[in-house]
Amino acid sequence: MASIFTKIISGEIPCYKVAETEDYLAFLDINPNAKGHTLCIPKAEVDKIFDLEEVAFHGLMAFSRQVAIAVEKAVPCKRVGMTVIGLEVPHAHVHLIPLNTMEDARFINKTKLDREEFEAIAARIASFL
Ligand code: AMP
Repeated sequence: MASIFTKIISGEIPCYKVAETEDYLAFLDINPNAKGHTLCIPKAEVDKIFDLEEVAFHGLMAFSRQVAIAVEKAVPCKRVGMTVIGLEVPHAHVHLIPLNTMEDARFINKTKLDREEFEAIAARIASFL
């Protein structure tokens, strides 16, 4: 069965898109640790990030770096942290999280945003790409 992220890539499920290339997609995490929390994924559905082919892995890192630089410009924060977990969605993804405190790196304190706020922050990050 297609992963929820593959359904996002196909357009079956909506997302707040930040960036897209032929091989990668970036969109806002729907249950963010902090405003601007972004996910970067390969379009090819592979569960574990370290199972990606080397070229695809390095491509995902380069794409994530570009998006992270844009997130840091778009969102007031001390820095953008990068985390890989993958326990919930079996489709490789990189979390880019604007950090102000260590709490923002923990997946416990969540931030609630409404649709307008999601749309505005996705557009703002995209404007720096
Ligand atoms: P993990 O697999 O543990 O790295 O976590 C998966 C992440 O994907 C979580 O932070 C979820 O909030 C996020 N997520 C799950 N479904 C969606 C969705 N439809 N759109 C955006 N983010 C999602």
